[in-house]
Amino acid sequence: VERTLALVKPDAINKADEIETIILKHGFTVLEKRRIILTAEQCSDFYSEHYGKKFFPSLVAFMTSAPIVAMVLAKENAIQQWRDLIGPTNSNVAKETHPDSIRALFGTNEQKNAAHGSDSAVSAEREIRFFFPNCVVE
Ligand code: ATP
Repeated sequence: VERTLALVKPDAINKADEIETIILKHGFTVLEKRRIILTAEQCSDFYSEHYGKKFFPSLVAFMTSAPIVAMVLAKENAIQQWRDLIGPTNSNVAKETHPDSIRALFGTNEQKNAAHGSDSAVSAEREIRFFFPNCVVE
């Protein structure tokens, strides 16, 4: 069983319960859950791979604008399964190509896209540790 890090982003915070219901319906187990407001410093650290990009300041402003929900999800092939369930990065694209995806249902555009999912096993471990430093790795 694999683990991944899921975020419900600020634009979808009022839909967090609805999104969790979808997550459970798709067979994921929620191992950990926290609702937090990121500081700009924490957010810059989390998204450090995007530092220097044109959209970075606006991404940090968005991600610190309201609470987020961070969850550790477990399932067979969880990393890919969760990315499939959230859909393409740009919610406008998601609405066209993956209308049942979380980004299509709850997001708005390329930035306000409702959810995040780790993109690899290495990212998943880093991101889980980022939000849940005490979460035990098997
Ligand atoms: P990954 O998990 O591979 O990092 P992702 O779908 O989260 O993929 P990234 O390209 O990593 O997307 O970008 C991180 C976040 O930054 C996106 O989820 C989105 O909120 C925001 N973002 C990405 N591209 C843009 C853009 N061109 N303009 C504004 N915001 C963007």
